[in-house]
Amino acid sequence: MIHPTAEVSPEARIGRGTRIWHEAQVREGAVVGADCNVGKGVYIGPGVVVGERVKIQNRASLYPNLTVEDGVFIGPHVVFTNDRYPRSITPEGRLLTDADWEPGATLVRHGASIGAGAVIICGLTIGRWALVGAGALVTHDVPDHGLVMGAPARLVGYVCDCARKLEPEKGPGHWRCPACGRTFELAPLPGRVRRRRARLTARGA
Ligand SMILES: [Zn+2]
Repeated sequence: MIHPTAEVSPEARIGRGTRIWHEAQVREGAVVGADCNVGKGVYIGPGVVVGERVKIQNRASLYPNLTVEDGVFIGPHVVFTNDRYPRSITPEGRLLTDADWEPGATLVRHGASIGAGAVIICGLTIGRWALVGAGALVTHDVPDHGLVMGAPARLVGYVCDCARKLEPEKGPGHWRCPACGRTFELAPLPGRVRRRRARLTARGA
């Protein structure tokens, strides 16, 4: 289903069962897999690759050099930037063109979710099943299952495949979901390691 007000390039590939809503724009060379939902006013830039069963909410902007794997959730008004050195002109005042531009590739891995209004700086990887909080400004890679929040975004915990926050289990790096009982082995949080070291130092260990 492509809404009559959407603008889909004849050079874009759209998978079976995908719905593209009002005023969305899908540019040339973009690929959107099967069974996706592309919300109102979404922009999908040239060559952007989107997997299957991806939900892209209203007004999200997916600029080029972006790959989104299967099952990803992209909240409303999310922005994927694609220029680490943004300038309109050279130091001499000449207008910069696409040929002057060094794009940074961004990858969003399987099952990850990006909260409303988050901004993802280019050249990063958002790990499998990671969760980016609403309004976060992501400037570093996010590990698998990582929960990041804030501006700039910091790793504050881990989430389950079911998106609930994991609780630490006995033994370093062991985590468990209180909702569905899945267990995980993931690195201890950087802050916790620092706090533990500080405690040991204070004790004179
Ligand atoms: Zn769970």
